[in-house]
Amino acid sequence: MFGELYFDLEEPWRDQAACASYSAEVFFPPSDVPGAARTAKSICATCPVQEECLSFALETGQPDGVWGGMDASERRRYRRRIRDRARRKAS
Ligand code: SF4
Repeated sequence: MFGELYFDLEEPWRDQAACASYSAEVFFPPSDVPGAARTAKSICATCPVQEECLSFALETGQPDGVWGGMDASERRRYRRRIRDRARRKAS
């Protein structure tokens, strides 16, 4: 299911995605296997649209997979840091 969603995206930056020729399973590895996201992250590190991809994942709240070089738990921590920073600025 996630693989289909991943490859059906019509975001313009997808044309330049370094992951386009890889299996979706690489980017949606099992979350309970340590290091399973390593291959995906190394591909993301070479991707010319890493920033756009990460922004998309953060804006749309993608719950699974590696996007923009971050796995789901890294994105959650990143979102929390941004939220905490915004709260500190507001207070
Ligand atoms: S950053 Fe990673 S997941 Fe995103 S488009 Fe590039 S290779 Fe694919």
